[in-house]
Amino acid sequence: MALARGYAATDASKPLQPFTFERRAPNADDVVISIKYSGVCHSDIHQARNEWGNSIFPMVPGHEIAGIVTEVGSSVTKFKVGDRVGVGCFVDSCTTCASRDVDIEQYLPGLVVTYNGYEADGKTPTQGGYSDHIVVKEGYVLSLPENLDFAASAPLLCAGITLYSPLRHWNAGPGKKVAIVGMGGLGHMGVKLAHAMGADVTVLSQSLSKKEDGLKLGADHYYATSDPKTFEDLAGAFDLILCTVSAELDWNAYTGLLKVDGTLVLLGIPEKPVPVHAFSLVPARRSIAGSMIGSIKETQEMLDFCGEHDIVSEIEMIRMDQINEAYERVIKSDVRYRFVIDMATL
Ligand code: NAP
Ligand code: ZN
Repeated sequence: MALARGYAATDASKPLQPFTFERRAPNADDVVISIKYSGVCHSDIHQARNEWGNSIFPMVPGHEIAGIVTEVGSSVTKFKVGDRVGVGCFVDSCTTCASRDVDIEQYLPGLVVTYNGYEADGKTPTQGGYSDHIVVKEGYVLSLPENLDFAASAPLLCAGITLYSPLRHWNAGPGKKVAIVGMGGLGHMGVKLAHAMGADVTVLSQSLSKKEDGLKLGADHYYATSDPKTFEDLAGAFDLILCTVSAELDWNAYTGLLKVDGTLVLLGIPEKPVPVHAFSLVPARRSIAGSMIGSIKETQEMLDFCGEHDIVSEIEMIRMDQINEAYERVIKSDVRYRFVIDMATL
């Protein structure tokens, strides 16, 4: 056991505050990581404030972790002391079923999430990346490309993979028209990744205030969803729409933007059900789907893709003690485009 320092939510209504807790001593297959940067995902806020109703307190959030290996267990072969590594949204999964062969472990029972869950023992709460170090099985540790900015790589571990996986699954690429709804932490990564895959990329944002940035990051087109004309102009335009918004939208209006056989993929998780009229889907064989992060294999593939294409997140670095202010700014969509905590300030 080793003492770890971090910042935790102690209940849903209180600001995050300094917190000390124990990390397990490394087992033979574990890697000990000194955390250097931790991205701030909107899911951290949902969970720290118990907006999904499943929060375990005290909770150290953070599942966009970039750090340096400081120790490896005796059976670890993939990593050595000094390596630049990442940890994303989960740190263990069921290994008795076929999940590791089909690379969809994120969808199968037995997933151990990086925080707000329990370790494989079923009783020790997992604690995330807003902390000085973490101990993770080597199979759940990712290699970060050395050519990428270290801090700006952290958000790839959640925002990056969450967009990469559906873009690949629904074959985004040359000749495909892809729309990204919401130009936030997830959305701006979707723009960069879809552009690098060769798709024709459109941002659907509430306003045109981030248009210049969107076009710079790789969007071909940028529309405001506050303008009803957008929905007329773009009717039937897209093969794929990735929605990163967690607010309620007029879902029938968005499905109306899909081509025949087009798919609207929900990535954000609205609190209320998503009401859709059958007529929005049936006459054009359209689908509504959901997608959650990506497998470990796919996450490494995404990181390597980002290394090749020089893709990182657009970040604003904060000190650890600015986290509560950062949460308020994320809620107001006042972040361009991901906060990353410099863990040296802990
Ligand atoms: P974020 O940085 O806050 O971005 C969300 C964007 O949604 C905002 O930038 C804004 O874009 C748009 N938006 C916000 N409020 C809106 C409203 N009332 N109506 C319409 N659009 C609105 O959050 P994020 O970190 O990207 O996360 C987005 C969501 O995805 C969260 O709910 C998070 O929990 C979820 N998530 C899901 C997964 C997964 O695996 N499926 C993984 C990570 C996160 P504009 O200003 O451009 O309109
Ligand atoms: Zn996340």
